[in-house]
Amino acid sequence: MKRVGVIGGGQLAWMMADAAQKLGVELIIQTPSEDDPAVSIAQEIVFAPVDDASATGILAQKCDVITFENEFVNLQALSVLAQQGVSFRPRLEALAPLLDKYHQRCYLRDLGLPVPQFFALDEAENIKSKIEYLGFPVVLKSRRHGYDGQGTFIIQDFASLEQKLTLNQSLFLLEEFVPFERELAIIAARSVEGEIVTYPVVETQQEQQVCRRVIAPAQITPNQVAEIQAIAHTLLNSLEVVGIFGIELFLSADGKILVNEIAPRTHNSGHFSLDACETSQFEQHLRAVCGLPLGNPALQCAGAVMVNLLGYENSHSDYQSQRQQIAEIPQAHLHWYGKTQSRPGRKLGHVTVLLDNQNIESGSAYGNGVGAAIAHTIESIWYPR
Ligand code: ADP
Repeated sequence: MKRVGVIGGGQLAWMMADAAQKLGVELIIQTPSEDDPAVSIAQEIVFAPVDDASATGILAQKCDVITFENEFVNLQALSVLAQQGVSFRPRLEALAPLLDKYHQRCYLRDLGLPVPQFFALDEAENIKSKIEYLGFPVVLKSRRHGYDGQGTFIIQDFASLEQKLTLNQSLFLLEEFVPFERELAIIAARSVEGEIVTYPVVETQQEQQVCRRVIAPAQITPNQVAEIQAIAHTLLNSLEVVGIFGIELFLSADGKILVNEIAPRTHNSGHFSLDACETSQFEQHLRAVCGLPLGNPALQCAGAVMVNLLGYENSHSDYQSQRQQIAEIPQAHLHWYGKTQSRPGRKLGHVTVLLDNQNIESGSAYGNGVGAAIAHTIESIWYPR
């Protein structure tokens, strides 16, 4: 039996549980709090923050291989463990260019992948010329530790830019605002042998920089799908990734594709795969990490709509009645992460509704069609009026 150490005990680790059981894999999890979702499914837990590398040393003694559900780690400290023979999948060198958003942009650009125009904001006196080049609005991003739009700011003028820069001490990346028509994402996996599989390209819909909905598959042209798959292959091969990566993209009105961000782990845009695909992204990740052959990533239905259930208040409620109503929607699969506290914007669960050909033929499942109607139904049950 393989014992897999997972750094991070949030919902992404929690959703590995069924696959772990199916594959006969034990999960040993490093996470700071008793209340974290994956505590309930772990064989063993090392209670420590994800960036505590000495705790990861203890984790290493309990397992054959270590993987990540959270990338906010201390790579330098972990590299000492790697030198001592601890096996990380993906390897630390695959994470190194990605953890800082500026380094990530540079890496993607140097690989020849299409990215928005960007600058590091390190020399204060140059800001004016950089802004003149990009033009307002610009997007300001914390270089490290950003997630769910925390640390991403759309800036309309100089005064707000200066205010953000003086309020925050962190290092920033400045980039052009991309007037995208849609946002897309692809989940890709690479095995120890270098085999790559990709999931269907999806459309993601963000509100206030947080993912609200995912529609699978995205309605884009076969050429666009091929272009996105090629981006995934280039990236995963270049980094010699083992495991799942999520790639977020922008699609412009004239059909151009830009890479926005790489998640070196399972990703929210792949949650539909739990119910809609033969092999979920979580099983695929464990397969890759354990050196098993990859599974089939294809959709087992005509399409799917995934809606995040985001917190909208500070509360300890378990939202039983709303969950019940949502679960009663035909073809709905609800996943509740068991968090004890709700906060605005916090991901508490998600629901995936499977679509059949009839759904799709009876008017598009996208845009203003069936998919949008289902998402609207779920959100009107979930969010207070
Ligand atoms: P996070 O790491 O917090 O998820 P992202 O870089 O993915 O941050 O940004 C979150 C969201 O903000 C994106 O999904 C998109 O909607 C918006 N966004 C980010 N960068 C840009 C950009 N350059 N132009 C326009 N919108 C952007």
